[in-house]
Formats: sequence, structure tokens, C-alpha cells
Amino acid sequence: MSRVVLKNLKKSFGAVDVIQGVDLEIEPGEFCVFVGPSGCGKSTLLRMISGLEEATSGTIGIGDKNVTHSDPSQRGIAMVFQSYALYPHLTVAENIGFGLSLKRMPKPEIASRVQEVARVLQLESLLDRRPKELSGGQRQRVAIGRSIIRNPKVFLFDEPLSNLDAALRSQMRIELTELHERLGTTMIYVTHDQTEAMTMGTKIVVLNRGKIEQVGTPMEVYQNPVTPFVAGFIGSPK
Ligand code: ADP
Ligand code: MG
Repeated sequence: MSRVVLKNLKKSFGAVDVIQGVDLEIEPGEFCVFVGPSGCGKSTLLRMISGLEEATSGTIGIGDKNVTHSDPSQRGIAMVFQSYALYPHLTVAENIGFGLSLKRMPKPEIASRVQEVARVLQLESLLDRRPKELSGGQRQRVAIGRSIIRNPKVFLFDEPLSNLDAALRSQMRIELTELHERLGTTMIYVTHDQTEAMTMGTKIVVLNRGKIEQVGTPMEVYQNPVTPFVAGFIGSPK
């Protein structure tokens, strides 16, 4: 697990200032949620942390390294994509181990790492199935497994539950919270859903129009909103 530190981070697309100077410290092991309305810049901020998007100015630190200009593969992060990013022709075991086989890790070693990850995610009995033979929740767990196997220092999630139905979404919220407790890894989680933010986060970052409105625990943000925007946004779950 690693600390993540953003200093005066900015991003412009042409003349549009999408992220307008974000300062933030995320402690090791935290489950930090970026929440705010659609278009406020959550994904852009996350993509800058992952390195998929270059910052216009400011710095990004992960652990004790300044990674502002590092390649995504050098940042020690894992971006968890939605379950539809699985390879349909590969088994669960092959999907989970895919990244390691690209790195030419010996097969027995990959197999034992896959077993370990499958145990954590309770996928042991499903390793020979293909994605189409899995439920939505199981597929989501395989997508997470593909990231866990690389032992990332920080997990990044961008609305991973948004295309699941309501029942599965609430089940996956619980599973992700439990996974965080088990792994203890720093997680940064983007959502526009206030309920999701408040139930999952240890730290809530409320964003609006490319700026941080408030940072705090769910209780602090709920009980002491520091701006009318926060009061309105957090106080009116959909
Ligand atoms: P959110 O994830 O909070 O919905 P985004 O980070 O996706 O918001 O987008 C924030 C703003 O930046 C939006 O106005 C969006 O249209 C704009 N934007 C995002 N990516 C690009 C891009 N590649 N080029 C131009 N504008 C972009
Ligand atoms: Mg987004």
C-alpha cells in the first residue's frame, strides 16, 4: 500500500480547464472515493493518476516516487475495468493469469498465483469456466482478479458497478469493501452515486467543476458540509 499525493494538479483540454488545481493526500490503505456530478472531472483526475492522461501541470506522487511523467506500467497501480473487458475465449484462470503470461512468468508460478487470487475472490470452483458461463458478479470478480495478481500498490476504479443491476450492485459494494479490508491496499474509487460513496469510502472527496469542494470522512461530509454544493449534493441521494 502506498500514499498518493497530488499537488496543484491541473488539466486542460484546449481552452477548457477541466481540473483546476487539485491538492490531495490519500493515506496508505485508504478507500478514497471521488464523488461528484457527471462531467465534474472525476475520470480525468483518475486517468491522470493512472498515467493514461498527461497532467497539464502539477505533480503526482505514489509511495515515495514522483510519477508525474512516468509510464502507466511504472506507477505500481492497477486500473480495474468493467467486467466486459474480459477475454471471452479464455477461461477464468487464463483471464486472471493473462498479465503474468505476457511477462513470460513460468507456468507453474502463474498457476499458483492464480490459485491464490482465486481463493481471495472465492473463484476457486470457477477457474475452468469461460466468461459467458459466469454471473455478472462473478465476471466482475474475475476482472478484479486480473488486477490483484499484479500486486499493485494502488487500485483505481472508475464506476466499476455502473452497468450492473441494483441487486448485484449492492452485493458488489459489500464484496469490494470486504476485499479492501482483506488486502489493505490503497484504493481510489470514482462514482457519481452518493450512496455508493458514503457506504464504501473511508475518505470522501467531493468534486465539482474540476475543483475539490470538500474532503472528509463520510460522517464529516454528511454532518458538516462546508459549501452549499456539498450540502445539496450529499444531502440528496438519488
Ligand atoms: P466525469 O468522469 O466526472 O463525468 P470527465 O473527467 O469524464 O468527468 O470529464 C470532465 C470534463 O472534461 C467534461 O466536460 C468532458 O467533456 C471533458 N473531457 C474529458 N475528456 C476529454 C477529452 N479527451 N477531450 C476534451 N474534453 C474532455
Ligand atoms: Mg467519468
